[in-house]
Amino acid sequence: MARYIGAACRLCRREGTKLFLKGTRCTTEKCALAKRETAPGQHGARRTKLSNYGMQLREKQKVKRMYGVLESQFRGYFSVAAKKKGITGEILLQILERRLDNVVFRAGFAQSRKNARQIVRHNHILVNSKKVNIPSYLVKTGDEISVCNKDKIKKVVTDNREFTKTFEKPSWIKVEEGVHNLKVVRLPTREDVSIPINEQLIVELYSK
Ligand code: SF4
Repeated sequence: MARYIGAACRLCRREGTKLFLKGTRCTTEKCALAKRETAPGQHGARRTKLSNYGMQLREKQKVKRMYGVLESQFRGYFSVAAKKKGITGEILLQILERRLDNVVFRAGFAQSRKNARQIVRHNHILVNSKKVNIPSYLVKTGDEISVCNKDKIKKVVTDNREFTKTFEKPSWIKVEEGVHNLKVVRLPTREDVSIPINEQLIVELYSK
């Protein structure tokens, strides 16, 4: 599947907010956004006031880029969310949070969602004792997720957990101490998404 392979920091500068796409670097003074807050490109410094459409578009791009999802898949998630009973924007965020790569990242097993995606793609993650190498796999209540039994990857995950120990861990997953296992105790709710997102803007954009 096609992926964005350009500079990650450029995306943060375009959205004007930290998307935490580069792991360790994002929390240091090396962060590109900390050095330069303007949008990328020759005319980046000349930011004009955004129209309604502009705000909706930027919010959609921000969420899409944060979760590392391309347009067609993101639109697919929206269609699924729109067909379900409940508040569409909240269901959309719930679907994104349930992605396996996101769960691996939120548990602290990876330093970024991109890093988590790589760990999953390389067959290092087991869901209910079976290898799952699909980053978009949606976890369910009761799923048990663990890291495969290879010393090399266990060491990588141990280091990642050390780096992410100060990150806020969501209450809908229970991470075991000492071993690289976690359990999905319930499905995420809107309150579990701590990043500032105005999901209503995305709903308005796709409902036109
Ligand atoms: Fe974004 Fe991280 Fe780059 Fe900072 S270092 S601009 S947060 S990807």
